[in-house]
Amino acid sequence: MNSLTLYWSPDFIHHEVSVGHPESANRLLSIRDMLGRTGQWETYQKVEARAAAFDEIAVVHPIEYINRVEQTSQQGPAIVDSADTEVSVGSFLAARKVVGAGLQAVEDVLSGRSRTAFILGRPPGHHALPSLAMGFCLFANVALAADYARQAGQVERIAIIDWDVHHGNGTQEIFFGTDRVYYLSMHQFPLYPGTGKPDEKGIGPGRGYTRNFPLAAGKGDQDFVDILEGPVADVLMVYKPELILVSAGFDAHEYDPLGNMNITAEGFEMMTRTMKRLADELCHGKIISFLEGGYHLDGLAESVSRHLAALAQEQSSESINQ
Ligand SMILES: [Zn+2]
Repeated sequence: MNSLTLYWSPDFIHHEVSVGHPESANRLLSIRDMLGRTGQWETYQKVEARAAAFDEIAVVHPIEYINRVEQTSQQGPAIVDSADTEVSVGSFLAARKVVGAGLQAVEDVLSGRSRTAFILGRPPGHHALPSLAMGFCLFANVALAADYARQAGQVERIAIIDWDVHHGNGTQEIFFGTDRVYYLSMHQFPLYPGTGKPDEKGIGPGRGYTRNFPLAAGKGDQDFVDILEGPVADVLMVYKPELILVSAGFDAHEYDPLGNMNITAEGFEMMTRTMKRLADELCHGKIISFLEGGYHLDGLAESVSRHLAALAQEQSSESINQ
């Protein structure tokens, strides 16, 4: 079994945005460069992402919306719905491939071919609503992966941990009414997109299966680790997820231009180790992590490098003995 598989495609580079836009292809190039220098790129198993089919995306997004993203992308450069969400001719394929990568990762991790997975793709996904592109996001990548895992019938309970500095309003909304996906987010508040207050807890059968941890600007490594080891761990120990998905944004990094938090690259490694320990205890180490935000190129690259190193670590001895 591979301890970590990376899902990647050169097509992620061809989602082009205007000069100066923070969510640029340079983010992935910077990460790849760093992983090359550390030797990690050669070490991990890599899988070329496949493009998700329309009907696979339509599980969350109405066909009219998918068509609109495709048509706007073909006419690009253009924006979809929101001024910050730009597309180019290559964007639709890139967006389908990020979704497809998530579905492949679900198959590979649930079947035991890989213990953990990282989707090194863009555009990100946690702000995308079923019929609205926003916050640089076109399709709800993490939510689609979670739905795919549920529909495969192999898992009843999935936890999504979102530590991007922004609240994942899209993911929250998609699972607000279900108890089969537990959405937990830690994010700067107030900040874009404005959601993520503690009283947003779910509705109907989903009531109590959304938890938000809004944080004032300026919080650092230990603050985030304390939440993961405290209330997040408490929730997961009771919920007992069979698969953990991480919306791994790195824009809570101390140098990030879009956030005002103080996490270091080492902090992201500590947070990852905590998640890994929980996953080892609860679900045989099954974690799939999705790149969301992160806009300081060097800070992003170093943080992802350390995130992956921690994800790839073998199972801890305690859980092997259980
Ligand atoms: Zn973000």
